[in-house]
Amino acid sequence: MQPTLFERIISREIPSSVVFEDENYIAIKDINPLAPIHLLVIPKKVSSRVDEIESEAELGQLMATAIKVAKQHSSDYRLVINVGEGGGQTVPHTHVHILAGWTAQIGHQGM
Ligand code: AMP
Repeated sequence: MQPTLFERIISREIPSSVVFEDENYIAIKDINPLAPIHLLVIPKKVSSRVDEIESEAELGQLMATAIKVAKQHSSDYRLVINVGEGGGQTVPHTHVHILAGWTAQIGHQGM
């Protein structure tokens, strides 16, 4: 199996802007930000898409980590998980988007 793009980021083969890392997760700045703050929280244990993760504990840990990282950057934020190509997923390695930094008055556009 070829390493995924995010595995190559985790191994530092591909440079990225890392904002958080622990034993199980890495969080990086998205290269193509869709919000003033746009981060990706990526489990080091590879799964292609979030619904492949069978362990509820792992799903909970992923969400808890995303919330922890989001709170380090903003009091308000949006968490997004694209699942499958039809759901907008382009990188087949599970990740959670953190989008934030809009003004409260304007809020984010769209859904
Ligand atoms: P998704 O479309 O949900 O699979 O999200 C993949 C995200 O990865 C997109 O928002 C891309 O902008 C982002 N991305 C792709 N390549 C890189 C990279 N080298 N460093 C950081 N983010 C990336």
